[in-house]
Amino acid sequence: MSEVRVRFAPSPTGMLHLGGLRTALYNFAFARSQGGKFILRLEDTDKKRTVEGAAEDLFNTLQLHGIKFDEGPGKGGKFKPYVQSQRLEIYNDYAMELIEKGAAYYCFCSAKRLDEIRAVQRENKEPIKYDGLCRAMDIEEAEKRVAAGESYVIRLKMPQEGSFVFYDKVRDKVEIPAQQLDDQVIVKADGFPTYHLAATVDDHLMEITHVLRGEEWLSSTPKHIFIYESLGWKPPKWVHLPLILNEDKSKLSKRHGDFSVAAFRKKGYLREALINFVALLGWHPKSDIELFSLEELCTGFSLKQIGKAGAVFDMTKLDWMNGQYLRNLDNTYIAAEAKLFFLEAGFDISDNDHYQHAVNLTRNYVSRLEELPEQAKVFWQIPELSEEGIEIMAQESSQSVCRYLVEEFTELDEWTQENVSDCVKSCMQDLELKGKQLFFPIRLALYGDTKGPDIPRLTEVWGKEKTITNLKKWIK
Ligand code: GLU
Repeated sequence: MSEVRVRFAPSPTGMLHLGGLRTALYNFAFARSQGGKFILRLEDTDKKRTVEGAAEDLFNTLQLHGIKFDEGPGKGGKFKPYVQSQRLEIYNDYAMELIEKGAAYYCFCSAKRLDEIRAVQRENKEPIKYDGLCRAMDIEEAEKRVAAGESYVIRLKMPQEGSFVFYDKVRDKVEIPAQQLDDQVIVKADGFPTYHLAATVDDHLMEITHVLRGEEWLSSTPKHIFIYESLGWKPPKWVHLPLILNEDKSKLSKRHGDFSVAAFRKKGYLREALINFVALLGWHPKSDIELFSLEELCTGFSLKQIGKAGAVFDMTKLDWMNGQYLRNLDNTYIAAEAKLFFLEAGFDISDNDHYQHAVNLTRNYVSRLEELPEQAKVFWQIPELSEEGIEIMAQESSQSVCRYLVEEFTELDEWTQENVSDCVKSCMQDLELKGKQLFFPIRLALYGDTKGPDIPRLTEVWGKEKTITNLKKWIK
């Protein structure tokens, strides 16, 4: 079999969203699993929709997540350039060839006429499509009008009867009735190719073997196959990825919030978690494992495990997953990732040891980096106790705990987690206290809150003196 060549072909019309990240990831993982090539191609022929900064965001996001392309903008490759706006002259020749072969035609209909057709179709609840007026026009006449400088577009002359049947690796047999298909514009009035022409031509020229893309492109596939076949080319294998849905099963869209990768990074999701989470939106590994790295994904990836059903975007699961990575990855890495969040919240993190401790002792209690500064703030200043906290400290049992521990701690020669832990255990036995009665006062005194990090670990960071001072403060 020939080498697998796949592509991710985004249009720079906005920040890369999680759906786009998934498409890129599946293409990358599939290429890696097959020892093939992953190509990045920028589809920027629609200048009106191009958003400034979108291409940079795309490159940065892919790089940040470890999705490396083998050929693409800035990297080169044997089919360069990989930016469609730099390949414009290529597409026109193929549009001409399609006209010559009777698979496309010039259309001179005005925007006003098209609006009128659509209005009538809308009223009659018919599919919105071009009515085919210019299909029958003689080619000589059309060329004369073009030469005379009349404005035109080029449309595909789609078959009007029967249906299109093709095979998709995820959906198997797909059948789309010809009536549903429009005579797609392939060259616009400004002379620019549309996505349909440019993507198809490039997929052929770049020797793409498998097209993995979102399900929303399924209905365009017959048009692409029609171009392939009209030009005598062999179409690639089609792999349409399932839709991503909200929990209420509606289609995920901008109306439901900002699903850009950048927005998720801003909230403190780690790249490891995003990759892992996005990988499971429509694909599942052979075993039941839920947590895996990019490398593991690449090794185990197969098209067979891509599902047809819409993949529900479960935010609770993402939070859980991010929490797992926050706990399990190296603390230095987490601290580095968290830095911006602390700086933005106005923390002085110049004492690196202190900062590392603060992150280490709090990362178990949050699900996103954004929540860390709030959770770790006691490492900079222990908050005033709430009224309820003050009441707890005044209770006789709390007083005994503080007195007991101050005495025991003072006598310790070596300030270790183990020794502290022994003191807490003997306090529990000697005073016959446990649970809240024991732990709440210790935590409140040391930490200002009844929930928080493990006590011995905390006391190690605090040191002997600060721990004792904080306990003493509450003894009446
Ligand atoms: N440029 C298209 C997009 O923005 C690519 C679709 C495809 O993969 O064919 O998603």
